[in-house]
Amino acid sequence: MDEVITPRIEALRAHVREAAADLRAIGLEIDRDPTAIDRWLHLPAVDIMRACTVPEQYLTNPLRIGRDTYDIRSCLEHAVTIEELSYGDAGFMLSCPGPLMSGAAVDALGDEKQRDAYYRRIAGPEPTWTFFGLTEPAKGSAATELETALVPDGDGFRLTGRKRYVGNAAFAQLGVVFCRRAPGPLGIEAVLLDTDSPGFHAELIETVGLRGARISAISFEEVRVERSQILGYETLKPTRRGLVGAIRTLQRFRPVLAGTALGLSRAVLDHIGSRRPGLAGTARLRLEEARDRLAATRARNYRVAEAIDAGQVRLDRIAGVKTRAAELAEHCTLLAADLLGPAALLDDPLLNKLYRDARAFEFMEGTGHIQRLAVFQGVLKGTFLD
Ligand SMILES: Cc1cc2nc3c(=O)[nH]c(=O)nc-3n(C[C@H](O)[C@H](O)[C@H](O)COP(=O)(O)OP(=O)(O)OC[C@H]3O[C@@H](n4cnc5c(N)ncnc54)[C@H](O)[C@@H]3O)c2cc1C
Repeated sequence: MDEVITPRIEALRAHVREAAADLRAIGLEIDRDPTAIDRWLHLPAVDIMRACTVPEQYLTNPLRIGRDTYDIRSCLEHAVTIEELSYGDAGFMLSCPGPLMSGAAVDALGDEKQRDAYYRRIAGPEPTWTFFGLTEPAKGSAATELETALVPDGDGFRLTGRKRYVGNAAFAQLGVVFCRRAPGPLGIEAVLLDTDSPGFHAELIETVGLRGARISAISFEEVRVERSQILGYETLKPTRRGLVGAIRTLQRFRPVLAGTALGLSRAVLDHIGSRRPGLAGTARLRLEEARDRLAATRARNYRVAEAIDAGQVRLDRIAGVKTRAAELAEHCTLLAADLLGPAALLDDPLLNKLYRDARAFEFMEGTGHIQRLAVFQGVLKGTFLD
């Protein structure tokens, strides 16, 4: 057992694993029709997604296992939960209602009143989907150059611009939009927006893989924004708002995304093992080598998540583990094509889906090249030692 994995976390893992056991077939349905999640909202896995990301005081039924209660506070527990759900199906997990990344932005920037209103809404009886709108069509990785404009209008503002590749936006009831109030990286604000605001429009983008992420294109046409919708407007200096929230959210979620890629990798390796139990010689060695890589990357991810929980945020290590996990997911699906034969990618619906899904991790929460730049900075400074 990894030294950071306590009995409390083992109990969480076992609980989530059980809830994720039936997600494969449902994941294939969501892959065919990304709106199909509406038929599965009664599943325990949906409750877990909500319970592990909404503070317990807002929930009538928080996640309790034995004497312990679990919620969003721990990055390590979140990464373990998402890894197990993604072993079931990553697309299912991403299409679930709940805070996902927008909650981390609200936590990082919002004042007490904003946080309270946000979580009360999400914990309400109706399922509530949210989005985290950072990426723009013309800017992509250059998020600090984003152009969506927040222009003063009377005692409030008007929001105009476009976002792209934003998970769940076409189905969400509210989300966080990063936008520009003034030039430069420190002129960015984060705005909490209802999707029924006049001038808001979002539509699903058809994708080949990880279709459950339901990435969407958004346009804002002079959407009215009150000051109370700007996260931290009353409590934080302008330079401590906006971009700071985006960065903190991405740092906090990269080990969680690595958990997604690791869960998928394990699903692929177990699938190879169950389809070819008699693998021998070099083929068996290659499978075992991939399992070793999985164990090493997972141990590294737990250490990174544990360090975040302890307040030690190391950008190079966070970037390094996200990149390794994304690369491993791709490697495992290519290994499956080698060991089961390339025709399996067409004949085997699960493998076909896992192969397509694995390609998304390279781009999510910062592309591989952007992560490698962060690792390189650590190497230059002598801090990236593993
Ligand atoms: C499944 C999925 C879900 C997503 N969910 C969200 C979401 O919820 N919210 C959201 O805001 N975004 C989301 N994204 C967007 C994701 O974060 C972007 O894909 C990412 O920011 C990259 O932008 P881009 O695709 O425009 O690529 P670009 O930035 O145009 O990059 C294209 C290529 O150039 C490389 N490149 C770019 N800049 C540099 C540089 N400075 N140095 C070296 N190489 C560079 C990149 O690595 C990449 O290979 C999602 C994407 C996917 C695939």
